[in-house]
Amino acid sequence: MQKKAYERPVIQRVQTGITSKVGAQYGNRPVTDIDGVPVKQLIERYGSPVFVLSERKIRQNLEAANRAFKTRYPKVQFAWSYKTNYLNAVCRAFHQAGSWAEVVSRFEYEKALKNGVPGPKILFNGPDKTDEDLRLAIQHDSPIHIDHLDELYRLHAIADEVDHKPRVAIRINMDTGVYPMWDRFGFNYENGQAWDALNKIMTMGKLELIGLHTHIGTYMMSASAYHIAATKMADLALGLRNRYGKVVTYIDMGGGFASHNTLKGSYLKGADAVPSMDDYAEAIASALLSAGFNQDELPWLYLETGRALIDDAGFLLGTVISNKRLSDGRKATIMDFGVNILFTSFWYDHKISPAQDSSSYAEDSVLYGPLCMNIDVVREHVTLPPLHAGDQVVVHYVGAYNITQSMQFITLRPAVVMIDHKGTPHLIKQVESLETLERGEVTPDYLNEIGL
Ligand SMILES: *Cc1c(COP(=O)(O)O)cnc(C)c1O
Repeated sequence: MQKKAYERPVIQRVQTGITSKVGAQYGNRPVTDIDGVPVKQLIERYGSPVFVLSERKIRQNLEAANRAFKTRYPKVQFAWSYKTNYLNAVCRAFHQAGSWAEVVSRFEYEKALKNGVPGPKILFNGPDKTDEDLRLAIQHDSPIHIDHLDELYRLHAIADEVDHKPRVAIRINMDTGVYPMWDRFGFNYENGQAWDALNKIMTMGKLELIGLHTHIGTYMMSASAYHIAATKMADLALGLRNRYGKVVTYIDMGGGFASHNTLKGSYLKGADAVPSMDDYAEAIASALLSAGFNQDELPWLYLETGRALIDDAGFLLGTVISNKRLSDGRKATIMDFGVNILFTSFWYDHKISPAQDSSSYAEDSVLYGPLCMNIDVVREHVTLPPLHAGDQVVVHYVGAYNITQSMQFITLRPAVVMIDHKGTPHLIKQVESLETLERGEVTPDYLNEIGL
């Protein structure tokens, strides 16, 4: 008898998909329009892929957030987090609706000025502010949120040269029961760094301390973390009142409220798993109101909410390039948009809807982007009805961070369109061209002739 050849054991993942002879029911109904404008028309006019933002939704989100906080706390001010989406049309929509600006770099600061935001309404955050940046912010009387001691000492030096006191806050980090802790920005509450910085500011008297700032993390799935954070911030503010008779104008609780996107590996859909705006507002307002402030010394509550205000107002429309079968039998669909313009697909399972009527039977498939790169996977598993080359899809919840973090790679970046509250689409960013790409490139003269 012949000895059998050794066969290496393999573990194979069970594929979901067609579950019975009639197939799996497909949940996502087709989405054929955005705010009344047909997807087909948007793609015809602006190309595929194309980002579409709903101004109506942006304004509704801000209004709802304002209502959640202002029905619980009397002094509330939102400041739009530029890095979340700094297309000028978006920033201006937020400013028109009453939001100030929150920036984390020099060019964002200049963008806010150019968008017409008065200096005192631009909150300047971030660890990287040069002396020039600080001077510019002082000249425009903007609140400077100090990140580290070197910045504090540089401000002390600059304060000697200028004719009015720089207005500052310090950024605080702390244990809110959510780990890993965000302790790389600002001064720590528990280990005494925060008080060390405050004592230096108060004793030197060169800076006008107007507030306290924190930003405890992003996509925070716990409202109670904000209750803990607000309690610690209030404790610092009251401590300043006790030690120095100093009443700060505001407590800035930063951003970080979760959007309705679904995190990879999450069992529940994002909308069912994350706290509501009311939950966050309740946590913060009740902490501040029970901290023991005198009624006439209640600080303003500043909020720098980013993703929660715009994620669900953004859509990416795209087109199917091709379908194929992988070697293990799985269906694969190649789309005309990839991870370079959908950065958040690295941690979210984006909801994707077909944009035309299709069969209600669905199959598990892999969604690839168009890049010549193995990592270009938009969804590893998604249950979609049969899509054919040329069919269109809508990717949901892409308004936050995708446009600002998008990377020009292999393909040109798409146009961005905003649909106004009346339902009229406006081009707010042109599709890239070879020309936009090569702007700034310089070819040395000796390479003018390539001689082929
Ligand atoms: C990024 C950032 C925000 C906005 O965060 P979201 O998670 O989008 O709400 C607010 N404040 C600061 C300091 C930030 O760095």
